Amino acid sequence: MLGKKILMTGATGLVARTAAETLAEHNEVWCLGRFTEPEVERRLSDRGIRTWRWDMAGDGLDGVPDDFTHVLHAAVERGDGDFEEVVAVNSVATGRLMTHCRAAEAFLFVSTSALYAPQAPDHRHTEDDPLGAESAWLPTYPVGKLATEGAVRALAATLGLPTTIARLNVAYGPHGHGGLPVIFYRSMLAGQPIAVPHAGQHYCSPIHTDDIARHIPRLWAAAGVPATVVNWGGDEVVGVQDLMTHVSELTGVPVDFVPSDVTRAVIAFDDTRRRSIVGDCEKSWRDGVREALDAHFPGTVEAGTKREVSHRDQ
Ligand code: NDP
Repeated sequence: MLGKKILMTGATGLVARTAAETLAEHNEVWCLGRFTEPEVERRLSDRGIRTWRWDMAGDGLDGVPDDFTHVLHAAVERGDGDFEEVVAVNSVATGRLMTHCRAAEAFLFVSTSALYAPQAPDHRHTEDDPLGAESAWLPTYPVGKLATEGAVRALAATLGLPTTIARLNVAYGPHGHGGLPVIFYRSMLAGQPIAVPHAGQHYCSPIHTDDIARHIPRLWAAAGVPATVVNWGGDEVVGVQDLMTHVSELTGVPVDFVPSDVTRAVIAFDDTRRRSIVGDCEKSWRDGVREALDAHFPGTVEAGTKREVSHRDQ
């Protein structure tokens, strides 16, 4: 993608930062956000990215240019128990953003796999599966996302703004919180157990942020009115316990799984529509997870491998 004028939200976080930095190599990129970590803003600026203070919880967009060709909206208020707030903040901010950027060629809203209703743990969800928006782990989150999907669909239709709603699976990579494998690894380092279902395990379709960045231009190209909806995950389906057992083997840090009613439930995707739009991924989850761990904890995988070898030698 070359010579476009791109507006992004959420670019200080895990999912969108690699995309912002990659796209900024050949396009004009602006990032909106609160920039709660000044160091991240500085690093974005170092890449030639324009930053602009925008708090979704109330700020308008006066002064922001309105001639963007492409918009990626990844910022999210996940909420901490207040359903009214999470619905209002995300929906209204998204409405302001779409209205402001109504002349764009394409708008991409990053939604979530968390809004599907529960099925058998190994069920591969299609875009037509029932929605549920219930999460014991983070109750406000899927409700806010589902409400915002409604706003996005409405504005795509009324503004005639070509839009894609991409329901993202487990993302992971070098920036921000790192994603589920890194978050769980932090728990392992702290000696905390990982909550798992009483029977079986959760499955997911993890996707590395490098593949996310590669897919974004094609997701924009697929934007339509009414909005295009697509499940956005990686090529491989992985069990969460298998994933974290692999992390434990890579790092030499023990993992403890404890059955619980409250788990970080994730789901697997049927990737037929995603592959038809963006094609394959380039990064296998094993390579990607190793790279992400190395980015967040430099040297940890190498040290873990050495520990494993010396353990085997004894
Ligand atoms: P992060 O928690 O890493 O980042 C959240 C982003 O939202 C930050 O850039 C933050 O910027 C911005 N933000 C939060 N509140 C506000 C606000 N009030 N005003 C403006 N910006 C705000 O999120 P991820 O990168 O993990 O997720 C990005 C998107 O992907 C989200 O929409 C999420 O729902 C979706 N998603 C993520 C998945 C994952 O595995 N990570 C899975 C499925 C969906 P700042 O603090 O600088 O303002």
